[in-house]
Amino acid sequence: MSDTNPNELDLSADKMYPLATSILWCAVCVPRAWATARIESEVNSTNPAGTSNGWVVGADAEDTDDCPDDPKRIHVRLWC
Ligand SMILES: [Zn+2]
Repeated sequence: MSDTNPNELDLSADKMYPLATSILWCAVCVPRAWATARIESEVNSTNPAGTSNGWVVGADAEDTDDCPDDPKRIHVRLWC
């Protein structure tokens, strides 16, 4: 048996984690290496926006932030 908390996120994984969602936007934590198109396709496949354009990565500087938990990851806000 291991002591690992199954709820703890594996931040080194090549995965996306949802951070928050509202009606107009959602935020995710993704590897810094991911291209915008990959972020959008992952979000749209796991959480369809139901709008014609789907979720789109915000273009403003405030829409992207460093991840406080891992320098190799970023937090990105998407709009629908
Ligand atoms: Zn993060």
